[in-house]
Amino acid sequence: MAAPKRKTDIGPPHYEQMLHPMVKANYGKWKYHEKVKPGVLMHVSETGDKLYTVRAASSRLVSIDKIRDFCNLADKYCDGYLRFTSRNNVEFMTDKEANVQPIIDELSKMGHPVGGTGNSISNIVHTQGWVHCHSSATDASGVVKATMDELIDYFTSMKLPAHLRIAVACCLNMCGAVHCSDIAILGIHRTPPTINNDALANMCEIPSTVASCPKAAIRPKVVAGKKTVEVVEDLCMYCGNCYTVCPAMPIANPLNDGISIWVGGKVSNSRTAPMFSKLAIPYLPNNPPRWPEVTSAVKNIVETYAKDAKKYERVGEWIGRIGWQKFFEKTGLEFTKYHIDDYTLASSTYNSSTHVKF
Ligand code: SF4
Ligand code: SF4
Repeated sequence: MAAPKRKTDIGPPHYEQMLHPMVKANYGKWKYHEKVKPGVLMHVSETGDKLYTVRAASSRLVSIDKIRDFCNLADKYCDGYLRFTSRNNVEFMTDKEANVQPIIDELSKMGHPVGGTGNSISNIVHTQGWVHCHSSATDASGVVKATMDELIDYFTSMKLPAHLRIAVACCLNMCGAVHCSDIAILGIHRTPPTINNDALANMCEIPSTVASCPKAAIRPKVVAGKKTVEVVEDLCMYCGNCYTVCPAMPIANPLNDGISIWVGGKVSNSRTAPMFSKLAIPYLPNNPPRWPEVTSAVKNIVETYAKDAKKYERVGEWIGRIGWQKFFEKTGLEFTKYHIDDYTLASSTYNSSTHVKF
């Protein structure tokens, strides 16, 4: 398998350069894999080659020192090969079975639990949060740390009915995979941006600010002789897009911002087609540093699912079998008016179903 010749130097290097030599040599020849124990996979090739993978939780936002520590471990046991998964687990690959336990021991000394394979909760993928993004409605890494501290047993074991993927996005622009995860923790703004009329004309270009709104909620306005804009509140969906374009329209509001919980999404097409997640809890308060309302709500959903779902049923499949009414009954969650989709453009979605026509 030769890498195609690059036409430019733009973009990442070809992934083939990063593959473990055994992966490269057995490309397309893997016969099966076994989950040896939580966090340890064994891939077996038709050539007889066996490759062991040890999966550990990463802290997601990692320092250069931490990456050096991981690389040192990979140099010691894995001929220098490691990889990060799309949910930010870190995986160490070795062709020597004898290296598996020492890798686990060293990871545990470094404070990184091994697990996340098979019917478990894998590392929670998350977005930037208060650490970096200007439009976040909640923190990301802090919420994930608090949640995984509660759910760590489900990372280090494979006792759940099926894979359970959790994601966090700190606003509804959803840089994280919240629309397609079994449980999604989504930061929400609940008030429109505030407008600094004095500064707006100096800081922002009014036509591009108006054009930045996907709901056409922003209009030019003159206030006290100064060119500025206004927001039609009924149209605003609190997405924060305008703030990205115009710093004089901040949307973060410590009292009103919070977290919503969504359930039932998946990417996998095993048994059933991929699914989008749907609203379970419309609002929980931001309560750093441990977000107790959020962690107990997520734990409640995980434990109700673990008790009630059949083997191999993902959260969305479980809800599909028992029905949404039973989901709300079994989890004790309240069904509110916010669970009804009244989005302006929802009518076009309704019209594409066989159930409602108008
Ligand atoms: S989800 Fe929203 S707030 Fe979070 S990093 Fe992405 S754009 Fe920023
Ligand atoms: S928050 Fe979003 S919907 Fe509201 S005014 Fe800004 S861009 Fe428009």
